[in-house]
Amino acid sequence: MNRNLFLTYSDYLYNKYKKTVYRVGVDGGFSCPNRKNGREDHGCTFCGSFGARSAYLGDSEKVIEEQIIKSIGFLKRRYNAQDFILYFQAYSNTYGNIDDLKHIYDYGLSLGNFKELVVSTRPDCVDSNVCKLLSSYIKDDFDVWVELGLQSTKDISLSRINRGHTYNDFIESYKMLKSAGLKVVIHLIFGLPEESSSDILESVKTISELNPDGVKFHNLHIPTGTNMYEEYLRGELSFPCSTRHAEYVANAIEYLPEETVVMRINTDTPGSRHSVPGYFLDKSIVYNKVVDILRSRDSYQGKLRK
Ligand code: SF4
Repeated sequence: MNRNLFLTYSDYLYNKYKKTVYRVGVDGGFSCPNRKNGREDHGCTFCGSFGARSAYLGDSEKVIEEQIIKSIGFLKRRYNAQDFILYFQAYSNTYGNIDDLKHIYDYGLSLGNFKELVVSTRPDCVDSNVCKLLSSYIKDDFDVWVELGLQSTKDISLSRINRGHTYNDFIESYKMLKSAGLKVVIHLIFGLPEESSSDILESVKTISELNPDGVKFHNLHIPTGTNMYEEYLRGELSFPCSTRHAEYVANAIEYLPEETVVMRINTDTPGSRHSVPGYFLDKSIVYNKVVDILRSRDSYQGKLRK
């Protein structure tokens, strides 16, 4: 890891397993309760509808199997990979009947040598049954992570982007997940409409107090066809440049607990999805900018944390 500066995800995994472990991202065919009419509907104003397919039942087994086998095959050929993390990534992966969820997780885990399970979801898709199910997979040598979308701690911003939940809703689900022994990753977007740099820092400081196991930071970007894209066309939005975004990230890192894994520092949506602002920040460029900023301040993860 870049020990003196911040704890990256790849370094965290390498420190833990003493080798490289690869994520296998799976689209389990889930939808999202914030899209009242399924995947084709609008939910959060920045959320696109890529790869829309039928709901999570139907032919999900076949699709999951194809994705996992294909990904593992590629990683083995390309990197001689041996160990993997199963990552249910697309949409809200705890949105469904509890028996169906169990079936899908079990089936996915049966298809590879997985070291961890990661499930991405939103606050209103977390309840005691979901926590119980997910925690049932935890073993001494097997962690279960839940990536919980938040984006901002400001209710006015959550309403502005149509998240469909409040910060208090998030806190409730966060506490349930933590009480069940699950590791939790919090997602924030930097550069939301009408959010200043101090608003962003306020969100970071607030979540830092929760001691999250991980964080993912995204720069604002919007796919075509979303409600936010309409705002963009009306000239109502501006986007932080890569240098500004790197400053936001560096500022955030200074307030994070040193054990919190910085799992992402910018969005990695493929260019083929034609998002605006029309360019994509290269991960390594943002990373180098963040490192330069921290070095110039003689700073590191948690330096400004009280
Ligand atoms: S909660 Fe996630 S999947 Fe649902 S609309 Fe928002 S960003 Fe999209």
